[in-house]
Amino acid sequence: MGGRGAGSRLTNQTAAGQSNTAGGTVKNLDDAQTAQDVSLWLASKGYTFGVSPTIDKNIPVRVLKSGAKMVMRLYNELGLDPSSTFLVRDLDSDEHRPNAIMSASFYGDINYNPLFYGSEDLANQRDEKVAKAKSGWNPGEGKDHTSDIAHELGHSIEAYLIAKRYTNGAVGAKRLTADAVNAWTKHTISTEIIREAATALKKSGYKVTKWPWSYTSPDGKVTGWDNKKLSPKGTSVADYVGSVSGYARTNRSECLAECVCDYLMNGSSASRMSQEVWRIVKREMKK
Ligand SMILES: [Zn+2]
Repeated sequence: MGGRGAGSRLTNQTAAGQSNTAGGTVKNLDDAQTAQDVSLWLASKGYTFGVSPTIDKNIPVRVLKSGAKMVMRLYNELGLDPSSTFLVRDLDSDEHRPNAIMSASFYGDINYNPLFYGSEDLANQRDEKVAKAKSGWNPGEGKDHTSDIAHELGHSIEAYLIAKRYTNGAVGAKRLTADAVNAWTKHTISTEIIREAATALKKSGYKVTKWPWSYTSPDGKVTGWDNKKLSPKGTSVADYVGSVSGYARTNRSECLAECVCDYLMNGSSASRMSQEVWRIVKREMKK
């Protein structure tokens, strides 16, 4: 969970923009040709997040534009003022975890892994892979690469809620306290949200009759990813978690991220669990 000085991106890029007489801010985000165009456009609209000046230069601008659009949509859906939140700080690549396609840091950085996004070809391959997938492992299957950032934004939401609760409101700086680290590693807030959503669904009478994913190992012995089955009533927390996606069962933070991804990618056709989680997330972000 390393971090850099907050605010350095905007300072650097505004200065760079002002000294570049050939540059200036593009009118529409779609006209952006460079990572800096994307950042300057976002700043001109009052957004406090942008593209890190140190992002891997091989990540296609179209990926940064679609990422920025997803972040803006999230702010919009949550009713957040662009200037009043540090939910997301940077689109970046330097803190990606080696095996993760993308990762979110506690400080609001969303990192693209150049091994999956470091060229137009790789980004196209990522689009094709997501579009063709239909295992139920992720809720963004059948869509495109933007389902990756939609998932990471779920982690950003949890980090934001942790910062609000445990760092004396210092959301922007996100100074880590022992309590915040503990909540991040122990999935404290996501566990609360998932439990509340499951309780509400149970109360409403909704039962899970089938998980939307399937897997059989080559030897035929392991089914359902980890060989667990729905409980007889279909109303346990695990039943509702499994109704989101296969990956949602990893831990409660991943479940929260999958619910946010499901909502952002599928809207009203997202799972009941994802929609219930989204309702709670919205409420908690407004508090
Ligand atoms: Zn995740």
